[in-house]
Parts: sequence; structure tokens; C-alpha cells
Amino acid sequence: MNINIFENSDLGSQFVANRIGKVLAARNSVSRPTVLGLATGSTPIEVYSELIKKHRDEGLSFENVVTFNLDEYYPMEPSDIQSYYHFMHQHLFDSVDIQLDNVFIPNGKIHEHKVIKYCEQYDDKIAEVGGIDIQILGIGANGHIGFNEPGSELNSVTRLVELDEQTRKDAAATFNGIENVPTSAITMGINTILKAKEILIMAWGKRKAEIIKQCLFGEVTSTKPATFLQTHPNVSVVLDAEAASLLDLD
Ligand code: PGA
Repeated sequence: MNINIFENSDLGSQFVANRIGKVLAARNSVSRPTVLGLATGSTPIEVYSELIKKHRDEGLSFENVVTFNLDEYYPMEPSDIQSYYHFMHQHLFDSVDIQLDNVFIPNGKIHEHKVIKYCEQYDDKIAEVGGIDIQILGIGANGHIGFNEPGSELNSVTRLVELDEQTRKDAAATFNGIENVPTSAITMGINTILKAKEILIMAWGKRKAEIIKQCLFGEVTSTKPATFLQTHPNVSVVLDAEAASLLDLD
């Protein structure tokens, strides 16, 4: 894996936005669509701000972009301010020229009898548009990517999962208490994520230093799902100095 360390998260976010902007501009110039895999949480917020700036100041167009989000709480109303649907509109989609028909976010209100079929169709749709060109990821303190919690296997696909206790604790502040955090979510699988042609995983702050060390250099294991990224041929790890502070890179 190619490891990129920056003094702070703003510089790391600019690096990620520049990479996305470069691929997008190149594909736009030959009228080819770009398929982006998108993440939520605090980690990618500055990347989205940078992309909005590129749209506003440099005319970078999202008209030919198709997006697939990693995950959504379940059950969850899209109109709920805690939904990832809301997050994506607030932090990116409302401020760029993306066509909303090209936006795919797991549907947190799909009926439970339909959820298995729905998840299969989510993966089928990704394949139908030619696969994900660039997937961005954050990482959970427990090593999850998307909501692939410890125990998620290499061959896992998009599915309904139970959230780990650690994940629910991390979300407690957003939901005004852990008792309000949903216990389930729909997430792309590890296999779904690893099919992306290029992956950019970001981590900021001391809180992520230990898990970053384990995920980059530890044994590949389903108990730390991010370790599966070691098996992908085109992963860039983007860290700030604090998240990189436990790495021994000599
Ligand atoms: P965070 O979450 O970006 O809010 O740190 C990352 C994750 O859980 O994947």
C-alpha cells in the first residue's frame, strides 16, 4: 500500500480531493462517466468541501458522476437529519451539479422482507455501470470499513448487518445517546469494496493511530476488516501526522 502522510487533515483532504478531481476531469474530457464510492462520518467532510470548491472555482463538473455510498443506518428515514442520505446532500450533493438519478445510497427504509433482494440489486447496479473507479474510505476505531464490523469476511457483499457496540458508542453523541443509535445498518461488503479499481483510505487524529498500525502491518483477519485492504493492488493510505504516529516506516 502506498502511504501518504501529511502535517494535518486539511492537507490530506486536499490530496484526496485532487486525486478525485484529476480522474474526474480526465474522464469528463473524453465524455466518460466516473463512478465514485463515497463515505460518511467526520473523516471525508473536508474532502467534500474541497470538491465543492473545485466545482465552484474551477468548473469541475459532476454531471457525469455516478455515486454509491458505502452504508446507511437501518431502519432510517432519508429525511432524518442523522441519515447518511441527509449527510451526503448537506456536505456534497446540494452544492455540485450531480444528477440525483445518478446517486445511490442504501435505502434505510426498505421493507425487511425485501432487504436481501435490495442489497443484491445494489451490487448489481455497481457492476452494471462498470464498477467503482475510486472508493474513498474512513476507518472505525474497531477496524471497520463501511459498516463491515469485526467478523466480516473477505467474500461479504452488500447486506444488512448488526452494528458493533464500539460503533454505536462512537455514534452516540450524534444521536443524543447510545439508546437512540440504530442497532443495524445496510453496508457494502468487503468484496464489494475490494472490487473498486482504486481505493483511498483516510484517517485523522491520534484516536486512529493504533488501528492504522494494525490494519497496515498486522495479520490479515476478519477481526480487523480493514486488514483486507492489504490484498488490494491499488490502495492509497492518507494520514495526518497523528494517525501515522505509531508507524515505524524506516
Ligand atoms: P469517522 O468514522 O470518520 O467519524 O471517524 C469513520 C468510520 O467509522 O468509518
